[in-house]
Amino acid sequence: MEFSRVADLYEKIEDTTKRLEMTDHLVSLFKDSPPQIIDKVVYLTQGKLYPDYMGIELGMAERMAIEAVSRATLVAKKKINQLYKQSGDLGLTVEELLKGRFPPLKALTVEDVYSTLDKIAKTSGKGSNEIKIRLLSRLLRGSRPKEAKYIVRIVTGKLRLGIGDMTILDALALAFTGDKSNRPILEEAYNLSSDLGIVAKTIAEKGLEGIKKFQVTIGRPIRPMLAERMSSAEEILERMNGKASAEFKYDGLRIQAHISPNEVYLFSRRMENITSQFPDVAEALKKSLKVDEAIVEGECVAVDPHTGEMYPFQMISRRRGRKYDIEKMMEEIPVNIYLFDVLYVNGVDLTKKPYLERRSALEKIVEETDKVKLAEYKIIDNPKDLELYMHIAIEKGCEGVMVKSIDEDSIYTAGKRGFKWLKYKREYKSEMGDTVDLVVVGAFAGKGKRAGTYGALLMAAYNHEKDVFETVCKLGTGFTDEELAKLPELLKPYKIERCHPRVDSGIEADVWFVPAIVLEVRGAELTLSPSHRCGWGKVAENAGLAIRFPRLEKWRTDKSPEDATTVQEIIEMYKNQLKHI
Ligand code: ATP
Repeated sequence: MEFSRVADLYEKIEDTTKRLEMTDHLVSLFKDSPPQIIDKVVYLTQGKLYPDYMGIELGMAERMAIEAVSRATLVAKKKINQLYKQSGDLGLTVEELLKGRFPPLKALTVEDVYSTLDKIAKTSGKGSNEIKIRLLSRLLRGSRPKEAKYIVRIVTGKLRLGIGDMTILDALALAFTGDKSNRPILEEAYNLSSDLGIVAKTIAEKGLEGIKKFQVTIGRPIRPMLAERMSSAEEILERMNGKASAEFKYDGLRIQAHISPNEVYLFSRRMENITSQFPDVAEALKKSLKVDEAIVEGECVAVDPHTGEMYPFQMISRRRGRKYDIEKMMEEIPVNIYLFDVLYVNGVDLTKKPYLERRSALEKIVEETDKVKLAEYKIIDNPKDLELYMHIAIEKGCEGVMVKSIDEDSIYTAGKRGFKWLKYKREYKSEMGDTVDLVVVGAFAGKGKRAGTYGALLMAAYNHEKDVFETVCKLGTGFTDEELAKLPELLKPYKIERCHPRVDSGIEADVWFVPAIVLEVRGAELTLSPSHRCGWGKVAENAGLAIRFPRLEKWRTDKSPEDATTVQEIIEMYKNQLKHI
């Protein structure tokens, strides 16, 4: 398949103002892609080469890309730097430089582009920078201007088309079954594999029947089941049909461990492979699990080795993302893992089994040790006991409790936030005591003291059903002066000409962004709003919901925009708030 076809479609997608149009462009791209390479097309479209969990980063340093552009175009680096400063986009710069030149004799294929980028990503060690530069300059020499634009954006990690996983799944359903209502079937395969490429290849080669037979596999993370929130013990038990399991809600890092005779993989909540950061946990699990193959989930928490006391999240977070001094950190910050679920044992997928069956399977395969424990739980059938149990959990250093359904249908719903798991923390008692995670979609120019930076950011919640971001507030408080000053620079890579097709806003912002950055925000209360689009028409006619007095709490670099608080959750919070007035 010629890469020019892909580049043309990327350009069309960038010119699109509507999400449905975006999906249509993707449908024609996928229909054109030969099944044996459709996985590569999907990864490239998201600016990647592999699914995230493989941890293969492409991001080539800009100065190296500039060197490659210089060699490919025979234009001096100084000049390129100048042009790049003006355009702010190295992709546009290379496109301009190549325009009007004699086109390459041979058309570039998707395979050419992918295999060269793959080599660039995997070359390491001494002399690797020079090899990478050569590979890229050769590729650019064989490219047309538009192709070069997208290659440079991909290789520097700046292809930001803002296409979410759900949009890709919609497009795949349409392209290969002709019917978008088949998306949930594809979504389930994606939730079991965290790999859109393999889902695309399976549907293209084997159709819907192949997708229905999709299997859990060791080494491929299962997307985590997530919890809804509720603010009173009575409501929780009512929702759970009177009886449920209350587990301690440990305040640490969620880990999904895949164990096989030769290998242990640890995945984070965002499905990054973090095995090398926690070799102590991998080792401890290997010893404690009495089976050949298993996938288990638990929360990893930092503990005082002398008293066994649990430290809050901030402590274990110091061990995240480290490449060096791992041994030292293991000694300084020892951790335990509290296992709360099992999803697979020796070839058997347990995700469709109810909670109590999974819990008893977990108890059978785990031999508790100093470092590996089973999550504490209690079956509860009245609000008073639930309240008491939550206080016991908090006293022990937990955040509260996770209340889990014990009904027959309490299966593990991978990748979904639902009411089969409810989190119950003390702070939910006050109106909007809990924070929400919102996505930056626009900004307003600052005035007075804030001239030159942004006065406020336009924030949105995620509507999972529609796969769009609906605005819910303007955020202008809680930033330090330093953060404020840096905002334009930090957000510049995401800046676009107009409102992104996946953003629903009733407000005209001064600047628009690709939905990418997630901020944790604390608000005073939720109100009906004629201008914000969050949950439009769901609680009142011709109105959405807005957060009053929002304040920045922290930057959530660990969350992707689709992990933001959902519109559905905000509606639920609004209804709860009404009950407490
Ligand atoms: P939060 O900020 O509350 O952790 P979240 O969006 O990261 O929210 P939720 O599904 O809302 O995730 O809350 C569940 C999280 O609580 C899990 O992802 C997990 O990390 C943690 N947790 C701690 N103990 C348990 C437990 N016993 N069962 C399930 N999850 C637990």
